[in-house]
Amino acid sequence: MRVLILCEHDGKGIRLGSRSAVAFANAVEEQTRGSVECLLLGHSLATVAQDAAAYAPVLVADHPALANPVADRYAKVITDLVKERGFDLVVAAATTFAKDILPRAAGVLGGAMASEVIGHEFREGRLCFRRPLFAGAVVATVALHGKPQIVTVRPSAYAPASARAEYSAITNVTIDEASLPKKTEFEALQSKLSNRPDVTEARIVISGGRAIKNSEDFERLVGGLADKLHAATGSSRALVDAGITPNAFQVGQTGKVVAPELYIALGISGAVQHLAGMKNSKTIVAINSDPEAPIFEVADYCLVGDVYEIVPQWIAGLNGK
Ligand SMILES: Cc1cc2nc3c(=O)[nH]c(=O)nc-3n(C[C@H](O)[C@H](O)[C@H](O)COP(=O)(O)OP(=O)(O)OC[C@H]3O[C@@H](n4cnc5c(N)ncnc54)[C@H](O)[C@@H]3O)c2cc1C
Repeated sequence: MRVLILCEHDGKGIRLGSRSAVAFANAVEEQTRGSVECLLLGHSLATVAQDAAAYAPVLVADHPALANPVADRYAKVITDLVKERGFDLVVAAATTFAKDILPRAAGVLGGAMASEVIGHEFREGRLCFRRPLFAGAVVATVALHGKPQIVTVRPSAYAPASARAEYSAITNVTIDEASLPKKTEFEALQSKLSNRPDVTEARIVISGGRAIKNSEDFERLVGGLADKLHAATGSSRALVDAGITPNAFQVGQTGKVVAPELYIALGISGAVQHLAGMKNSKTIVAINSDPEAPIFEVADYCLVGDVYEIVPQWIAGLNGK
C-alpha cells in the first residue's frame, strides 16, 4: 500500500502524535511492501521538513496561502496529491487538527474512513482496523470498502517511531494558489501559553474533578502538583462545564484520550465517559473522599481522603518540608 501521513507540526518539528501515525504506517508498509511518505502543510517549513525527514521521505506543501490550518485548503492539497500520486491510505494522529481536515478530504475523495484506530491486523490479506465504540465498552474490527482508505490513529495505541539512521528525501509540492478554495478565511487564533506539556503528549497527567471548587484552587492544587512532577494538567468535563478549566483540558469520551505512564485523578468520580479517555494509562492513582467512587475500580493506587488536605501535604513533601 502507498501510505501518506498527514503530519502535524509546531513550526519546528513534527508532533509526537504524528510519530505514532508514522509507526502505524511503517507497520502497514512492512506487511504490504508498499511505501510511506510524510506530508507537511504550512509556510516556512524548512526546519520541520528536516525533522520529518528523520522518519520517512517528506512531501512539503510550503506556501503563504497555507500558513494557517484552514481545513478546506488543506483538504484540497491532500486530495490533489492522493489523486496525482495514487496513495491507497491516508493516515494522521487522531487530534483536533486531523479531525478538522481529514473527514473533509475523505468526503471530497469519496474514500472510506475509520477514526480513532487503536490497532490493526490483516485478515485474508485485507487490512482491518480496531476502533472503540460506546465510550470504549466495545472494540469493533472494521474493514473499509472503497479507495482511498483514510484513517486517524490514537497516538496512545502506537509507540512513536524512532528516527532513522539516515535522512530521507524532501520533495516540494507545487501549490497553485488560484485553485485553493477561498470560502473560509483564517481570522485569529486564541491560545493560552503554558509552560506545562500538552495533555496528550505528557508522561504524567494530573487531572482534577468536581471536588475542585474554583480556578484558583485548580491552579494551586492540580497545577501546583503538576509543576512539581513536570506533568500536564487535565480535568473532568464537570470542571470544563463550570468554566473552571478550558476545553482543551477535558479528558474523556468527548475530550482528549490519554495514556500516560502515570495518571493522577484528584476528586474525579470515574464516570464511564471520563474513563473512556484515561483508562489505558499505565499506572492510575486516585484520591477521592468517597470509598465507593467508581474510579477506584480502575485505579492501581487508591487513597480515600480530601484532596484539599492531601494535595497540599503532597506538594509540601515534594518541596522537602
Ligand atoms: C455524552 C456525554 C459525554 C461526556 N464526556 C465526558 C468527557 O469527555 N469527560 C468527562 O470527564 N466527563 C464526560 N461526561 C460527563 C460525565 O458523565 C461525568 O458527569 C463527569 O465525568 C463527572 O465529573 P467528576 O468526576 O469531576 O464529577 P462528579 O461525578 O461530581 O465527581 C466528583 C467526585 O469528587 C469526589 N469529591 C468531592 N469532594 C472531594 C474532596 N474534597 N476530596 C476528594 N474527593 C472529593 C466525590 O466523592 C466524587 O466522586 C460526559 C457525559 C455525557 C452524557
